[in-house]
Amino acid sequence: MILVVGGGPAGSLSAINLGKENEVLLVEEHQSPGFPVQCAGLISDKCFESYKKYCRMEKALENKIEGALFFSPSGDFFCAPGRAYVIERKILDEMLFQKASEFAEVLIKSKLKFKGRKAVIDGKEIPAEYIIGADGLNSEVVKAYNFERPNFTTAVQIETRFEAIDQSFVEIYLGKAYSEFFAYAIPLGDTARIGVIAKENAMNFLRNLLEKHPSVSKRIKGSIIELNSGMIPLKLVDFVKGNVALIGDSAGMVKPHTGGGLYYLLIAVEKLAENFPNLKAYRDSFLKELGREIKLGKIIRRVYELKDEELNAIVRSLKDFDFSNVHMDRPSTFLSPSVLFRIIKTCIKNPDLFRIALKIISKTSNR
Ligand SMILES: Cc1cc2nc3c(=O)[nH]c(=O)nc-3n(C[C@H](O)[C@H](O)[C@H](O)COP(=O)(O)OP(=O)(O)OC[C@H]3O[C@@H](n4cnc5c(N)ncnc54)[C@H](O)[C@@H]3O)c2cc1C
Repeated sequence: MILVVGGGPAGSLSAINLGKENEVLLVEEHQSPGFPVQCAGLISDKCFESYKKYCRMEKALENKIEGALFFSPSGDFFCAPGRAYVIERKILDEMLFQKASEFAEVLIKSKLKFKGRKAVIDGKEIPAEYIIGADGLNSEVVKAYNFERPNFTTAVQIETRFEAIDQSFVEIYLGKAYSEFFAYAIPLGDTARIGVIAKENAMNFLRNLLEKHPSVSKRIKGSIIELNSGMIPLKLVDFVKGNVALIGDSAGMVKPHTGGGLYYLLIAVEKLAENFPNLKAYRDSFLKELGREIKLGKIIRRVYELKDEELNAIVRSLKDFDFSNVHMDRPSTFLSPSVLFRIIKTCIKNPDLFRIALKIISKTSNR
């Protein structure tokens, strides 16, 4: 029997895919998966299409997105077109969990613990041949089997009335006063999900964004309707030991440059199912597919460490940049010959951008 711990997307999708040919038990500690909501719900067009294989994504759809506006600390912005969708995570998680119950035995309100390495629910031992730890960043599987826990950052998110520049564009805010990573607004009609990502003092960054940001502060139209917070892993860790494997946030499987986890975990699940019961092959094929993307995503993440004046210069330089053939899930698309050529051309026109690019490259080679 395969024990899948955690009924979030990674756990439900694992149960669906493994349950077709194996006996699977899926355990979820909460009454309902996807609660409390800890997600902005932004996924790429490719990710949305891929999830359609498992559930009716239209039911979870909240908004269609045509691109992102990247704001400099001074309030200037550039536009990067790119199709994406905003979804309601609670609905997605419920649909996936429901689907998982067609392929696996499922237990809700059942927190899995370990006594040594024995899996236990309510004091009763659960014998399992394989264990899949899909139990997020506070994983019990990680603790019981001495996996490394990914280091992480915090995200605080509110929903509030907000006047978006354009309903079809998410807004990304850069700058030391507003986050240690980036801050965002995801339009949902009259309201928006507005969030900041920071290792510490995320609430202070959020207050700064709402009250002092040159553009955001003028467009907040009401008080907070909903507040939630969560953790985002910052590092992919080794995720296979013997007959135990991690998947999703427990393993740090997120895009390093955005913190989004829904696409990479889906790829992981499909690699797990293709290679099961060979868990080492699961690890190798995940790394073959996404290892380079994760490395490049980490390099992009260095942009968030830059000084405000450097971020202002980047935004200025990219105002006319042609983003076609760049995909948010695949940083390697920046290295395709046509995009690389456009980057070089833009760097030649903007010596500041060239200097910043060199700084990021030299920091990368020194680490
Ligand atoms: C504020 C915020 C915004 C985000 N926005 C986006 C976004 O826009 N797009 C995107 O792609 N990603 C986003 N993410 C990341 C995304 O939410 C995660 O990557 C994703 O939820 C990971 O799924 P998972 O199944 O691995 O873990 P989780 O969703 O954390 O699910 C783990 C499940 O395991 C259960 N569990 C835990 N321990 C036990 C136990 N001992 N026994 C039984 N059950 C247990 C939990 O109850 C939970 O249901 C965001 C994250 C945060 C914090």
